[in-house]
Amino acid sequence: MRSALGGPRLLLRRLREVMAEPVSAQARLDKIVVLIASNMVAEVCSVYVLRADQGLELYATEGLNREAVHLTTMHAGEGLVGLIAKNAEPLNLSEAQEHPSFSYKPETGEEIYHSFLGVPILRGGNTLGVLVVQNRVRRIYSEEEIEALQTTAMLVAEMIASGELRSIAKTPESFALDRPVVVKGAPMCEGVGLGYAVLHEPRVVVKQLIAEDIAAEVQRLNAAIEAMRVSIDELVAHGDRMGAGEHREVLEAVRIFANDRGWVRRLHEAVLSGLTAEAAVERVQNDARAKLQRQTDPYLRDRLHDLDDLANRLLHQLTGQSYVADRESIPENAILIARNMGPAALLDYDRSRLRGLVLEEGGPASHVGIVARALGVATVGLAANVTDLVEAGDAVIVDGVTGDVHIRPPPDVQTAYGEKARLRARRMEQYAKLRDVAAVTKDGVEIALHMNAGLIVDVPHLHETGARSIGLFRTELQFMLAPRFPRMNEQFLLYKAVFDAVQDRPVTFRTLDIGSDKILPYMATIDEENPALGWRAIRIGLDRPGLLRMQIRAMLKAAGGRDVRIMFPMIANVAEFEAAKTIAHRELAHLQRHGHRPPTNMQLGAMVEVPSLLWELDAIAARADFLSVGSNDLVQYMYAADRDNTRVSKRYDTLSTPVMRALERIAAAGKRAGKTVTLCGEMGGRPLEALALLALGYRSLSMSPSSIGPVKAMILAVNLEEAEVFLASLLAKEDGAPSLRENLREFAAARDIPV
Ligand code: PEP
Ligand code: MG
Repeated sequence: MRSALGGPRLLLRRLREVMAEPVSAQARLDKIVVLIASNMVAEVCSVYVLRADQGLELYATEGLNREAVHLTTMHAGEGLVGLIAKNAEPLNLSEAQEHPSFSYKPETGEEIYHSFLGVPILRGGNTLGVLVVQNRVRRIYSEEEIEALQTTAMLVAEMIASGELRSIAKTPESFALDRPVVVKGAPMCEGVGLGYAVLHEPRVVVKQLIAEDIAAEVQRLNAAIEAMRVSIDELVAHGDRMGAGEHREVLEAVRIFANDRGWVRRLHEAVLSGLTAEAAVERVQNDARAKLQRQTDPYLRDRLHDLDDLANRLLHQLTGQSYVADRESIPENAILIARNMGPAALLDYDRSRLRGLVLEEGGPASHVGIVARALGVATVGLAANVTDLVEAGDAVIVDGVTGDVHIRPPPDVQTAYGEKARLRARRMEQYAKLRDVAAVTKDGVEIALHMNAGLIVDVPHLHETGARSIGLFRTELQFMLAPRFPRMNEQFLLYKAVFDAVQDRPVTFRTLDIGSDKILPYMATIDEENPALGWRAIRIGLDRPGLLRMQIRAMLKAAGGRDVRIMFPMIANVAEFEAAKTIAHRELAHLQRHGHRPPTNMQLGAMVEVPSLLWELDAIAARADFLSVGSNDLVQYMYAADRDNTRVSKRYDTLSTPVMRALERIAAAGKRAGKTVTLCGEMGGRPLEALALLALGYRSLSMSPSSIGPVKAMILAVNLEEAEVFLASLLAKEDGAPSLRENLREFAAARDIPV
């Protein structure tokens, strides 16, 4: 077997000279192929570049017919070159023509060559082209030669990415790198965002690929690996000092890889072949990324992701760059792209610059999703491979309604979305104008509109939307974001901050509603067959009264000198409410005894969301100061259909006769007892559902801030008495229709009620 002439180091040295020469892009590429062919004693060396239309175009060749340059193209997947592009893996054959994928291109005159070695030209895991050498004799290329070719491919990748090859491209947007891509993800927060990509964990762009002094590069690599290991160990040891977005499990996995001998050996080999330490990391990372894009097994994907993470850390260590995006310098119209991120990390960005968020992993129920919704940033989650497909600065459109992410969208898509965004903005302006208009129906019935919140960042929406109060403050969200169970004083400060922010408007705090899908990362989890039917919410509060007492005490202290409203989640019977009420009164007495300024008034409410309470309505209404209907849970339990499982949750409609009848009973019981009944589930924020609720007797609704405008617009257009008569006529029918939605929609459409 022949070995490469002069070896890879000499090749790299010569390549460095070629890269520095002031020649045209085509001349440089032509020199590169000549150099590789002679260094590897190959008769042929060719560069194929992947175009935006997925064709592979011959860009330079030594040995094949030069007339074929820029003429020969093949589709990705066609021939051996296409196969390499498709699989993003090298192909090493002693008899190319025997391979089932071999396809003959007469214009190139390649039938006389037998052996074939091709490697993908990779960048960030994406294939940009293919680099090939061929020989007349049958031979297998050595590992060293494959390495050398892969390294050269990195140089060509840099020429493509830096734009150098644009001057010889047929059209300015002809590279695969510029290709528009649509990634389908899961909608997480409504809205449409147009802007430019900012990578939450920016990639280090390695410019200097070839080493000047190999021994020095080895030293730099070793020092960086050591420093990185130390910093990971420190992070794992001091969990509370973890930076934004750091997750313990990821760090643990990353630590194992950092000590993996195979990984470190591959890095060393790459440096010894003549690359700089940074380029060596990128080489090894490219391979892992290319594998990642094709890996469907979730476990292996996770491990490859960990490796990618590790390579990123090492690159940042080597270059001294910050590991996360510089918050200060993100552009206006930023679309944030992240593999995943913690909620606190998102809060660190300047909201006024964020137009959208795309996550590769986080789904709709993730904590960062909750924060994204609180901030009102158009968000899509579960967007596969998005961090590899996007380059910093790429134009990106996030459609938080459909879940589509358009990367480098063509002009017509940009225009269509621009129009969509303008329409939405105009609608928002119209809603904003309704801010100080009272929500009164055409026949003069006033409806109280309140807002749901859960984070301190939500509270300013109260003043922006003109909501009357915070009708539901989900306290568990702050607990879910905290690194450990918030102590009494931390809770006090949070509730105090909420009181300060709402100024003179009321706020209804709900005590901790954890369990089921709302997990506190620092609390031991218990395995339950049916967590939604398990130990959660007030059940935990009553079984661990210390936690509930601490929370109520913090709320009462924070409320000193003001009115406070507290409600308890998942009350299943009167006795549970009584027990919770006793705890609250005891805390109030304790506060007074110890000389703290007490609240001026304490109102205690029960959430009606467990169906059993439907048969104790008068009793609970007599004992509570107010009732609040949690329709999200009530409907899930009525239909025995998990609210987070779209396969079953979409099966049953909230606008159905059974749900309407149940809700009607609750409103009627409140009326009988003279107690306010608010509905705070998601249905209250949807105009059509809200219309039905008014017709059932609800006069108080609490909803997400973005729903207040649309619901108010509906209220202003409705004649309530007419709606009541209409809904009553539907409910009087015993025709078993699974949904009243279409009837209600027709009613609204005929009267120009915006729903
Ligand atoms: C509900 O169940 O409707 C509700 C408002 O509470 P949560 O969504 O927090 O369970
Ligand atoms: Mg609930």
